[in-house]
Formats: sequence, structure tokens, C-alpha cells
Amino acid sequence: MNFTRLTSKLPQVARASSLLTRPVRQYSSLKYAVPTICESPSSLYSFTEEELMFKDTVGRFAREVVQPRVQAMDEAEVMDKDIIDSMFENGLMGLETEGDFGGAEASFTAAVLAVEGKLSPPFMTVIALCDIHNTLTNTVIRKWANKDLKEKYLTRLATDTVGSFCISEAGAGSDAFALQTRAEDKGDHYVINGGKMWISNSGEAEVFVIFANVDPSKGYKGITAFIVEKEWGVQIAKKEKKLGIRASSTCVLNFDDIKVPKENVLGTVGDGYKYAIDSLNEGRIGIAAQMIGCAQGAFDIAATYAHERKQFGKPLASFQAMQHQFAQVAVEIESARLMTYNAARLKEEGKPFVMEAAMAKFKATKVAEQATSYAVEWMGGNGFVRETGVEKFYRDSKIGSIYEGTNNMQLETIAKILLPKYK
Ligand SMILES: Cc1cc2nc3c(=O)[nH]c(=O)nc-3n(C[C@H](O)[C@H](O)[C@H](O)COP(=O)(O)OP(=O)(O)OC[C@H]3O[C@@H](n4cnc5c(N)ncnc54)[C@H](O)[C@@H]3O)c2cc1C
Repeated sequence: MNFTRLTSKLPQVARASSLLTRPVRQYSSLKYAVPTICESPSSLYSFTEEELMFKDTVGRFAREVVQPRVQAMDEAEVMDKDIIDSMFENGLMGLETEGDFGGAEASFTAAVLAVEGKLSPPFMTVIALCDIHNTLTNTVIRKWANKDLKEKYLTRLATDTVGSFCISEAGAGSDAFALQTRAEDKGDHYVINGGKMWISNSGEAEVFVIFANVDPSKGYKGITAFIVEKEWGVQIAKKEKKLGIRASSTCVLNFDDIKVPKENVLGTVGDGYKYAIDSLNEGRIGIAAQMIGCAQGAFDIAATYAHERKQFGKPLASFQAMQHQFAQVAVEIESARLMTYNAARLKEEGKPFVMEAAMAKFKATKVAEQATSYAVEWMGGNGFVRETGVEKFYRDSKIGSIYEGTNNMQLETIAKILLPKYK
């Protein structure tokens, strides 16, 4: 053993131990959730009566309205309008929106449960529409718009109008604030020119939250959010054909001299970047929920199949090698679910949640890819053909590692919050 090498590490060890003598208050400024004392601690499976009712409603909606149409929608790559109408009727498009504006006024966790599709087979395309509409478009208006804009747009978005949230552009994906769309101040209105890429729900949307720069010399501090109505000139330039979530519309948008009244500036001019970060931080918990739903949906189909399908004279589920694989995937799904519920509760409690949300999205995305891949394999040839529906979960799972921040971007966020505490 090389003792010289070992002893050369001693000063570092000494420095590390001196950390322990730092005053406790230095740690209280860390940006991650610290445990707090509460009167009646409970498990992450404890829900309010309202959240449980919500779970049931979503379950019924998924079984009765969505399930019969899901395959056809995927093949046609089009969202069924009846499903969208039904989501509005069932209060699923204004989940957290205040009752005054026609919303369901549900808790954030209820929204997460709805997105997860708890108690039902989750259908990613429908979930994606519901999630992005609620956790991005509605949220940014709910949190930052003035009363007049809320009254005008939140009410429509909760009752009959689909919304889109538009940041990404050809040259601005992970580097979202490199966006080039311009909004020029013309006195009593702005004129927007530019375009967006990969905008979810844009095929059906009538209301668009568009992020544009009012003063590129200020860099990201020129980014401003606008509420824009489709009829003012939002053009759908192209509808993308995709690997997964095929029935969810993802379009390229063009803005050619769109005149936007000044009263449609969302919040404060130049604060758009803050609203975007804030909404995406929160939205990531929704994506994690989508991914858990996706993983669980595939698992449920495959586990049922494993009891029915016989080989070597026995059900597949009786083979120990299969049992262990099912058990391992179940552990992964459970851990991703608990991370997601925890991030949701932290957010609700007003505690730091950004790192936990990024961790939940990262984990849930990996788990969904793993679980859906296994599900196809567990069902053999029947997993690979379209009729059984399990291959769709596999294709749909991939989007989780891309939208609302790629997996690398989640790791960036986690590292940025986590590492400073070791300095
Ligand atoms: C189906 C779908 C729906 C979408 N919906 C919307 C929507 O509604 N609204 C909206 O605004 N956008 C939407 N997007 C856009 C989405 O958010 C972006 O695609 C995503 O942020 C990634 O950007 P990009 O595609 O330009 O990839 P890039 O940023 O080019 O990244 C490519 C790869 O490089 C890696 N990478 C990039 N930078 C770094 C770095 N600094 N360090 C390490 N790795 C890095 C990434 O992790 C990734 O693996 C959607 C996309 C899709 C596919």
C-alpha cells in the first residue's frame, strides 16, 4: 500500500471535517427542502377527500371516454374532438383554476393525480394535452396575469378553449432564452414577428402564450410573455409526424406582423424569462406524473397478460425469472411515484421543490423507458404488434426525456442546487 499517497489526502479530510463546525444557520439558506416538524405526519399515499374524488372522476373518464378511441386516434394521428369537449365538461381543463373563472380549484396534487391517470389506464396523448394546457398555459396566466386577463382567458381555457405555451424555436431548445421572436413596441400595441417549433396542442389551440423579446439588447431580460388569440394571425406552418404521442398536435408556428394590444402583455414587460422558468419548474412534476402513468399502464397490461399466457404448460407469471423482473420494475415505478408525489407536496407547501421536481422528472422518465421496454418484451410477439396497445406506451415514453427540459438539463438543475452545499 502506498502510504505517501494516503497521507497526502489528510489535509482534504481535515478541511472536510471542519465543515461540521459551521454554524447551523449557514445550512438553512440552502435551496433544497429541509425536514420540518408537522403535527400529524402521514404517508405520501394520504390524500384529501377532494383529491380522492378527483382520482375517481379521472379513472371513469379514462375508461369510458378515452379507452375506446385511443387506438384509432393514434393511427389517425389526430385528437378526437369529443374527448377534448369531454375534458372541458369534466373540469379537467381548469384543474387548479379558481372557481370564479370556471375552474375546478383542485390542489396541485389532484392535478398530478389526474395527469398520472390514477386508477385507470393512462393515455399519454390525452394526458399530454391536459397536462400542458393546465400546468403551463393555465398556470402562467393564473400566477402572473392581471385580473382582466384572467377573467377573459382563464374562463375560456377552463370551459371551451385549448391553450398552447410557446417558447421553443429552431435555434432555441435547451437554450430557450436564445429565442429570436421579436415584439416591437408600436405605442398602443406590439407587433410580433418570428416563429416557434414543436408547440404542443397548437393544432387545436385558440389561445397562445407566446414568449418574444421586446429588446434583444437586454438579452434574456427583454423576454416578455403575451397572450395571443389565434385569429390575430397565428399560422400553423406544419404539423409534425412523430414517434410517440402521435394524436397530440405538435406544430411549427409562424408569426407574421401579429398585432397584439398592450393589455395582452402577460405580467411585466421583461419578466417573461422568470415566468417561463417558474412554469417549467412546476410543469416538470406534471411530466414526471405522465411518465409514471405511462410506466404503470404498460406494466398493468403486461402483468395481466403474464397470468393468462401459458408456455411450458404454465403461466408466464409463474416463472421466477419473470417474477423478479416484474418485482424490480415495480420497485422502480414506486420510487419514481413517491419522488413525484413528494415534489408535488413540497410545491404545495411552499417549500423549495425545484431540485426534487427535476429529480422526479429524470427518474420517472428513465423508469418509463425501462418499464415500457420490459412490457413489450414480457408480451413477446404480442407486445410488438399494435393491437395489444403496449408498444404505444413504449413509443410514448420517449418524449419524457425531451420536453420541458431534456434529461441533461434536469441533471444541470440538480447539480446547480446540490453542489454548492459542498463548497
Ligand atoms: C413532442 C414535443 C412537444 C413539445 N412541446 C413544446 C411546447 O408545447 N412548447 C415549447 O415551447 N416547446 C415544446 N417542445 C420543445 C422541447 O421543449 C425541446 O425540444 C427541448 O427543450 C429540447 O430542445 P431541442 O429539441 O432543441 O434539443 P437541443 O437543445 O438541441 O438538445 C439536443 C441534445 O443536446 C443536449 N444538450 C443541449 N445543451 C446541452 C448542455 N448545455 N449540456 C449537456 N447537454 C446538452 C440535450 O440534452 C439533448 O440531448 C416540444 C418538443 C417535442 C418533441
